[in-house]
This record gives sequence, C-alpha cells and structure tokens, in this order.
Amino acid sequence: MNCPYCGHYDSKVIDSRDVNDGIRRRRQCLRCEQRFTTYERLQPTSLFVIKKDGRREEFDRDKLLAGIRKACEKRPLTAGTVDGQTDEIEAELYQMGRTEIPGAVIGDMVMARLKKLDHIAYIRFASVYREFEDITMLKEEVDTLANHTTINSADQLPLIPPDEMAVPEKNQRRARR
Ligand SMILES: [Zn+2]
Repeated sequence: MNCPYCGHYDSKVIDSRDVNDGIRRRRQCLRCEQRFTTYERLQPTSLFVIKKDGRREEFDRDKLLAGIRKACEKRPLTAGTVDGQTDEIEAELYQMGRTEIPGAVIGDMVMARLKKLDHIAYIRFASVYREFEDITMLKEEVDTLANHTTINSADQLPLIPPDEMAVPEKNQRRARR
C-alpha cells in the first residue's frame, strides 16, 4: 500500500486492531511520516451455488463427488478417477474467483468431463441433470453421442446395450406408459 500523501511504497505499522470482520492498521509513511489507515479483510472463501429456483446453497464438494461417483458406478475407470475429476472441477470453480455460481455451470463442467471420459457415465449424469422428459430425449442424446464418436472412438469405452443403461426410475416408468 503506497502512502496516499507522497506515494512512497513503504510504511510502518504503528497500531493494529481487530474490527468486526477485519484488521484496522494505523501506518506511518517512512518518507513523509504522514499517518494513514488501512483495513485488511479476509477474502470470503465460501462459494455459493445458485439453484434453478434461485435459492443459494453453499458449494458442497461431497455432493459433487457423490453425483459423479453415482454416474461412474461400475464403469471401468481407474481408481482415483472420480476423486481426481472432482478435485479438478472444485479447483476450477475456486479459480474463477466468484462467490456465486449457477448450478448449471457446474453441471456443464461435469458433463464435458464425463463426455470425454466415459459415454455411459455421461448419459447417466445427463439423464439426472437434464431431467430427460422421456426415453425419446434420452435416445436423441445417445444418438448424438454415437454419431460424434469418430475421432475419439478408440479412446472411448464402447456403448453398452440399452438394457444396461441406467435410466432413472421415474423416466423408466414414464417410458412404459
Ligand atoms: Zn508519504
């Protein structure tokens, strides 16, 4: 903090005290000897997720982890993949330096990663997250994936038969009607 009077870069602290959510310091410029006050505040580290209905909820890593883990259940992924993906997304979120973030942004981040990682996990996650209205919407997404599986097909795990696909209960019921 440069001196507000002469612009000198250095000052000494002559008094320091806690105030509400920060620290108030009296400083004296080492060049012109004028005194001035600075306040030091803790940068809020909590991150809030804005939900669809507008409510805010504190970001919860465990919740993110659980969602990804569920999508990746029984998929042939190496140990630590789910944790690693969660760590990376969490780090990315905090690096954005925002205090609030729409849930949809986080959902899209997860989907982008799962899409590269494993198509089944991706479809599972998308089916919950996007709340596919019926089996047609789900099929469209699968078809899109199948059509775009060209360059990366060698890295991708094969799409498994539809009966093994994790269609959420409610969607299954809807589809049978
Ligand atoms: Zn000064």
